[in-house]
Amino acid sequence: MGIKIFINGSKLNIGFSACHFIVDHFKCSKLHGHNYIVSISISGEKTDEKMGFVFDFLEAKRIIKDIISRFDHKVLIPKKSKYVNIIDLGEEIEVKVSKKRYIFPKEDVEILEIESLSAEHLAKFIAEEFIRKIEEGNIKEIVVRVEEKEGQGVEYVHRC
Ligand SMILES: [Zn+2]
Repeated sequence: MGIKIFINGSKLNIGFSACHFIVDHFKCSKLHGHNYIVSISISGEKTDEKMGFVFDFLEAKRIIKDIISRFDHKVLIPKKSKYVNIIDLGEEIEVKVSKKRYIFPKEDVEILEIESLSAEHLAKFIAEEFIRKIEEGNIKEIVVRVEEKEGQGVEYVHRC
């Protein structure tokens, strides 16, 4: 289908460093971190008339970096998880999950409107944020790839 442009986060050093946990996973339920890598591809049926672009590379990079900047060097917490209880203590955030209780300085935490901090949900979240920030116009498909480490990740496909 048409033309696909791509931004390879691994080659271009686009990503963020963050801490998360996966509820009740035998290993990943413990707080741990990743140097996430974020890539995107954008497909369109035709280029624009004047410049001949499906989508401007610079614009794609700017939007992705803008979306993920809020995750960088943060503890990510899934607000929409029914298994995670988040309590605002003013300067601190208390997080209860299973039999554990964490207290974080508020400035260290990013609470996301997301069901889980799996790469699956992160990729979907980033794709939806990206779509909100652009005019879809000639675009037919957007694929956001989130890798927790190079070679291990998820692609979320959004058809416009
Ligand atoms: Zn992890």
